Amino acid sequence: AGAGRTLPASTAAAAPRTAARPPRDPKTERRVRALLAKMTVEEKFGQLQQLTWHADTGPGDGQNKECAELAAKGLLGSVLNLTGAKRCNGLQRAAVEKSRLGIPLIFGQDVIHGYLTTFPIPLAQGSSFDPDVVTADAETSAREAASQGIHWTFAPMADVSREPRWGRVAEGSGEDPYLTAKLTAAKVRGYQGADYAAVDRLAACAKHFVGYGFPEGGRDYNTADLSERRLRDVCLPPFKAAVDAGVATVMASFTTVAGVPAHANRHTLTDILHEEFGFDGFVVGDYTGVQELIAHGIAADGADAARLALGAGVDMEMVSTTYAQHGTKLLAEGKISRARLDDAVARVLRVKFRAGLFDHPYVDEAAEITAPSAAARTAARTAAARSMVLLRNEKHTLPLATRTGSIAVIGPLGDDTKELHGTWASIGAALFPAVSVLDGVKRAAPAATVRFARGCAVEGDDTGSFDEAVAAARAADAVIAVVGEKAAQSGEAAARSDLTLPGVQAQLVAQLAATGTPLVVVVLSGRPLVLTGVADRADALLQAWHPGIEGGHAIADVLFGKVNPGGKLPATFPRSAGQLPLYYAHENTGRPFDPDNTYTSKYLDIPHTPLYPFGHGLSYTTFAFSGLELSAEVLPARSVADGGTTVRAAVQVENTGTRAGDEVVQLYLRDKVASVVQPVRRLVGFSRVHLKPGERRTVRFTLGRQELGFHTNDPHGEFRVEPGEFDLYAGNSSQAGLRTGFTLT
Ligand code: BGC
Repeated sequence: AGAGRTLPASTAAAAPRTAARPPRDPKTERRVRALLAKMTVEEKFGQLQQLTWHADTGPGDGQNKECAELAAKGLLGSVLNLTGAKRCNGLQRAAVEKSRLGIPLIFGQDVIHGYLTTFPIPLAQGSSFDPDVVTADAETSAREAASQGIHWTFAPMADVSREPRWGRVAEGSGEDPYLTAKLTAAKVRGYQGADYAAVDRLAACAKHFVGYGFPEGGRDYNTADLSERRLRDVCLPPFKAAVDAGVATVMASFTTVAGVPAHANRHTLTDILHEEFGFDGFVVGDYTGVQELIAHGIAADGADAARLALGAGVDMEMVSTTYAQHGTKLLAEGKISRARLDDAVARVLRVKFRAGLFDHPYVDEAAEITAPSAAARTAARTAAARSMVLLRNEKHTLPLATRTGSIAVIGPLGDDTKELHGTWASIGAALFPAVSVLDGVKRAAPAATVRFARGCAVEGDDTGSFDEAVAAARAADAVIAVVGEKAAQSGEAAARSDLTLPGVQAQLVAQLAATGTPLVVVVLSGRPLVLTGVADRADALLQAWHPGIEGGHAIADVLFGKVNPGGKLPATFPRSAGQLPLYYAHENTGRPFDPDNTYTSKYLDIPHTPLYPFGHGLSYTTFAFSGLELSAEVLPARSVADGGTTVRAAVQVENTGTRAGDEVVQLYLRDKVASVVQPVRRLVGFSRVHLKPGERRTVRFTLGRQELGFHTNDPHGEFRVEPGEFDLYAGNSSQAGLRTGFTLT
């Protein structure tokens, strides 16, 4: 048996924060080639197969038994959803000790926002605008999951999405490619550290490649009809950032991209990912995505699906088994090349070597599933508090005084300990209840009388308990209404057409508002909701997303001012679902909205603006921006394009209020005249800073080729930095007003 993978004594060991793409290690490459030379064709296709472990049945279950048998024959590369140190070791033993070549299995699982300790959902983490929040989640998750035998997580989701009807918007970092790229890279670094062979790290997987965030109508698994420039300017940058951060694997998307399903898309998988980006890890299909090429109507049968997917660049097939069934015959018939097969197998082996599996195939069985540590809980609480966005705060309703005499916590999510975990929560969510808002409030305000009334359910139309809730609101000095979505209302296959608060919750809020008692509305959701009619009735509105295991504490931290909120919206909040898609970086139109002109881009029935724009979020203090300055006002475009010259920008931000707080300084660019229509503005820099009252800081940004250029619609991805004038805006939302400009000649 190989040496056990053991956790270091101190789980709080300082982790290296920088991980770069691992250089090709000649020794690993030699080992890959030597092994490949010994493998039979069947063994090669075996490495390209991942099967699911059925956790709810025992090892004797049909599929589980098959996993063990195939592993022992060296005909299985990976297993999905197996956990528990003992079980992992048991199955691993079959592969390592019984199979002819002893190639270890790689165990993968969806560790999306925590394993034992649930962190806020990724979209919430997006609103932190703080790479450290993301890294803290990934490091904690990696440590916890790796101790249970998991080697590989199917995260981060790098899909930019401008489609809040799509349930999976919860799993990404929002609508902006720049923000998503920064946070995706931070997450990869957190999972993998400097070396994902370390016992407390995981191999990461950037998913879903590519375009999954643009499904028509928000319906999951649907068509994404992307132009080359949207693909390259919007969808690809986070994947490029993941590759540059050394991501071990990439997962294909269920969608089509310009008529070609992502699992059969040679242009995206081979031309772009392999060749342009230089990605040398492996691509895993998504679930039965390879076989789904038949339903897409581009493959006639399983053999055809295998030929297309492997040929395009999907290296490992998840769940469906077309490679294993048809691969040998396809190879014999010359429909798959030996070179491509060897390339796919080499990629899988390379990741297994890099993950240290050949040297340490087993996990230390002593590590038991334990409750989240105090340090992990603190990290989750901090992450949740930093993810909250204060959308409205009339008459300084918040923060509430801890000495408030009586507080009514009202609403279907007020005492909830389950939904707060959010979509794609791991086993920790089933084992360890989240702190409810009710408990958080009681703990934060021990002297207050705190009453709870549910009022209604999240879903359904029963208003029978409204009266009790209204009476509780009348009798209180302040109402905290906790409303929103259940965990299962976002995530995979969880599209919604109506984005208002589900059920009768908006009516409940209206009745609570009518009592005249100061009303704080806390929204828990996995997506931007339509809060028209709710926001305007609330004295204060806090977007808390699905905040994870420490949610109740973190919400109370913000409500009572222990934490001054500093999160910003990572996605536009529309006034109505009828406005969708609605995002700040929309293109210039020939007729921008003009109130004095009838024939401009607008609606007759609602304003054309969002309810809350991207980047918006309030604080208990105030900030002022000034002195936006540039290193030069005229620069040579050619030298910027070559990467030789950069534009440096500096802006001053001052805390002009009386409390310490965080501000996210945001920088937006407008390219005034270009050969392809440009966004009205786009984010090119952000920095979350903490300032004491009266404190002033100069925040600096560097804009280079990447920030100043764009792609044309050329299929080969022509990237241009064109001469012309540029405007630069600095401030604290996508509507930032402080402006300067420069010219590229
Ligand atoms: C999802 C992936 C996930 C996979 C494995 C699929 O349905 O689209 O994101 O990683 O299942 O659970």
